[in-house]
Amino acid sequence: MKTEGLTARLNSAGLLRTQGLIGGKWTDAYDGKTIQVLNPATGEVVADVPCMGGKETNDAISSAHDAFYSWSNLTCTERSKHLRTWYNLLISHKEELGQLITLEQGKPLKEAIGEVNYGASFIEFFAEEAKRVYGDIIPATLGDRRLLVLKQPVGVVGAITPWNFPLAMITRKVGPALACGCTVVIKPSELTPLTALAAAELALQAGIPPGVLNVVMGNAPDIGNALLASSQVRKITFTGSTAVGKKLMEGAAGTVKRVSLELGGNAPCIIFDDADLDVAVKGSLAAKFRNSGQTCVCANRLIVQEGIYDKFAEAFSKAVQNLQVGDGFSEGVVQGPLINESAVQKVESFVQDAISKGAKVLLGGKRHSLGMTFYEPTVIGDVKSEMILSREEVFGPVAPLMRFKTEEEAISIANNTNAGLAAYIFTNNIQRSWRVTEALEYGLVGVNEGLISTEVAPFGGVKQSGIGREGSKYGMDEYLELKYVCLGDMNRK
Ligand code: ADP
Repeated sequence: MKTEGLTARLNSAGLLRTQGLIGGKWTDAYDGKTIQVLNPATGEVVADVPCMGGKETNDAISSAHDAFYSWSNLTCTERSKHLRTWYNLLISHKEELGQLITLEQGKPLKEAIGEVNYGASFIEFFAEEAKRVYGDIIPATLGDRRLLVLKQPVGVVGAITPWNFPLAMITRKVGPALACGCTVVIKPSELTPLTALAAAELALQAGIPPGVLNVVMGNAPDIGNALLASSQVRKITFTGSTAVGKKLMEGAAGTVKRVSLELGGNAPCIIFDDADLDVAVKGSLAAKFRNSGQTCVCANRLIVQEGIYDKFAEAFSKAVQNLQVGDGFSEGVVQGPLINESAVQKVESFVQDAISKGAKVLLGGKRHSLGMTFYEPTVIGDVKSEMILSREEVFGPVAPLMRFKTEEEAISIANNTNAGLAAYIFTNNIQRSWRVTEALEYGLVGVNEGLISTEVAPFGGVKQSGIGREGSKYGMDEYLELKYVCLGDMNRK
């Protein structure tokens, strides 16, 4: 059986870790309970992992707290070297980590290895940034004083991450946190904990001291509540649904923790009459169908100007028809399964709602004949703003096309949402590209490009899509406190 063969290989490479990591020790749940991790392409059990809760989380917090003093007191060069070694190990194990991602998450192996490169790039980037945590000297307003600003690590960080990028969502939090001198308790998604555990194993091999990086998983609300209740946890960083993000923000108020939230999107992808058709098709295809539509920056609404609508709908549908669906380990597959049955049911209900309100299925529109959680890559035309498809994130391989007449109307449709993460526009008019970019209430804008994420640029949303930025030099600020120091009695003559 394929899953068994792969897990045996990963096990012998030491990368199939199936326990939590607390204070450098691989640990079972204290009551021995476990949960199954499934391969979404086949339904097979990949592994059992501990179902942890509040007790284990409190111990992980204590370990992170104990490790904080020594880790934050290392020189920036020492922390940087540890991160660099971790990066080298992630890259030298990219095949195995990619296999783990495909096994537990379903994305095609090539895309999974791409995620390893992307995920590791945050560790490399922040290994470098560790050396650039500059303070400031402020010109004093009184002659006998000197005014300084120091930057210091926030403290223990609770990092809660989703299943759609089992590695990258962790590294882009843990990279800057560790670089700044923070220690972390990671809670990966229960659906995809194995990649996180393998990355943690490599962190230990890289010499990152016990307690600096801890991993717990299991009962999400219990773990979340323990992180929120602890006054030792000074920051919560979260990527996931808007509903859970709001709960965490509310819960963080009790101990006045800092929060960074990267929540849901409802990305518009505006295609103007003056766009290059091939560029628009290629860009929107990538923006929509990456990870089978399961990313928060996936184009959720293709808003197409009336003059190019028919031509675009035809060319786009043709391109979508060519997307090969299947098990992520099969050659040529570019669309894997959805993460689980409830994800498919959500997609089905959104599509059904659109059809019942007059939308037209141009391609797909149903479960794939492969069964399991495979869904046909789908294009739906004549979608209107009252349909759920255009109001909420579908998080699946369904591209809704909406029609517009004027630039003002396109901007108004695009901004008519509580979300504000990514937006895309396709136009060859340079003035328009600036005007529309400035008018879009979004944290990221791709102009004539559908794949825009990179470790060197700030990623994050406005409105209810979140707070804070990840990646880039700005990503460091999320893990740093400013300390103003006034040196008095300088005896200046
Ligand atoms: P998704 O719909 O993408 O799974 P979620 O917000 O449910 O998004 O999950 C993102 C992460 O948040 C996962 O690690 C999940 O286990 C965790 N999570 C879910 N509910 C809670 C909670 N009440 N407290 C803390 N973490 C939670």
